[in-house]
Amino acid sequence: MKNNEYRVRLPLLKDNHSHTLTYSAMHGAPTLAGIDAKESAVEFMTKLEHKINVLLDWDETKFHFNEKELSSFPPVLICNVSLHKYIINLSARAMLKSIDENIAKNIEDQAWVEKNLLEVLKFIASLMEFNDLKMGLHFGELENAGVWYAEDMCVFDIGAVKYYKDSKYRNRTSLWASFPDYLRLPDNLRKEIKGIKVFADGALAAHSAALAKNYIAGGGGMLIYTNDELLKILHAIAGMNKPIAIHAIGDAALDQAASVLRKIGVDKGNIQVRLEHCQFITKKIASELKSHGVVLSMQPNFSRDSIRYADRLPSAYRNQNNPFRMLIDDIKYKPGEDLLFGSDGMPHGMEQALKWSLFPPYKSQQLKIEEFINGYCMPDMKNGYAEVEIDEEKESVRMIGLSLET
Ligand SMILES: [Zn+2]
Repeated sequence: MKNNEYRVRLPLLKDNHSHTLTYSAMHGAPTLAGIDAKESAVEFMTKLEHKINVLLDWDETKFHFNEKELSSFPPVLICNVSLHKYIINLSARAMLKSIDENIAKNIEDQAWVEKNLLEVLKFIASLMEFNDLKMGLHFGELENAGVWYAEDMCVFDIGAVKYYKDSKYRNRTSLWASFPDYLRLPDNLRKEIKGIKVFADGALAAHSAALAKNYIAGGGGMLIYTNDELLKILHAIAGMNKPIAIHAIGDAALDQAASVLRKIGVDKGNIQVRLEHCQFITKKIASELKSHGVVLSMQPNFSRDSIRYADRLPSAYRNQNNPFRMLIDDIKYKPGEDLLFGSDGMPHGMEQALKWSLFPPYKSQQLKIEEFINGYCMPDMKNGYAEVEIDEEKESVRMIGLSLET
């Protein structure tokens, strides 16, 4: 081993933000992941089966499709990597219409999709068969990638909650539900739900994360609710005595969340709040949220967005993305206590999680290995451990061994 290389043994990951049910349903679906050239994508898509295909991992920074190309493919619903944006061809639209007219009509309308995201995800998952086998395969994949525990940020319905309740994976996840889905659950299943998830904005990949200043192409993304609407929703959830997780990526969404939480009296400790993503959190908002006991749940792998979305993010935003040093050094957020890490499944696993933590595009995004362990790993090695080789010169991380206690 060269002296720029070292090995560490780490507890398996505790991924604080994933979507195990959605990813299980999507297991084995065709994907554009790893396809960089448009020609190869077109070739792959032309060969899709003649049924409604749900195609995953379209990265719009690589290529787009025109109407003519789309109509040459078998029926296809193309999902952007973020799962916040979709395109379909005419033959897919015709098929979807017979299943859900509303979704078929609106699935390419970004504002509508953001407002109805959980319904859309639920619909897409329903197009793909979900079963024990797929869940087993998904958890198997997680294990092989060094992940033991993964929170499911959106379980959709009674069937899903019942499934988890009796599943052998129950102790390897926590379940979050949207407020309408939570209200539909009977009491005995509500107990299974850790908290309620609310969206304040969209995603960078869909130009819909709400920024205070514009994207390069114009427009500042979108807030899902007005302040009053969000206040009303959070009030109602607070009355349920359940923790709340608010998806807020852009500084405008974080601003809104903070001001609504202020009105609701979060400083009095009457609700437990987690903010998801927080990529463009400012020092001012961070310090206020910290003093109110609000937990931040963030994804080191999204530090990569500073490069990946250079086509849409002005340089000031690329710099401000995932400001972990500010949060930890200045505001005193503590990994594992009030600063949690996860992947959102983009992608899953130890290698990418650790790579983007240790070697992000900007120093302001860098985590120390102890911080990574505290905020992103199981508390001990009881369930197993991963052996990792880190090369500081190449800025690479390689998992060279895995031990699982089964
Ligand atoms: Zn998510």
